[in-house]
Amino acid sequence: MDNDPVSDETPETSSGHPDEAPVCSAKGCRAAAVWVLAWNNPKLHTPERRKTWLACEEHREHLSQFLGVRGFLKDVVTLAEWEGRTDSGSAAER
Ligand SMILES: [Zn+2]
Repeated sequence: MDNDPVSDETPETSSGHPDEAPVCSAKGCRAAAVWVLAWNNPKLHTPERRKTWLACEEHREHLSQFLGVRGFLKDVVTLAEWEGRTDSGSAAER
């Protein structure tokens, strides 16, 4: 059963408006993202690869649990910290 809670695997590329404030990745949620969930599916991704989901306060726990029970979740950081960490957007994730 594939009960994916997000609308698309790469929601950050779907809008085409890079200047807009990032929104939560949860299905149907339009709230501003506050958290970044970094994850990796070892069946699909190389170990160093990081997929990211964005989450508002409300969905952080829901999404992190979804990833956590599957053993995919690697890191949960605030959006500000994540952007500081990845520094100048050398678009690794497209
Ligand atoms: Zn949300």
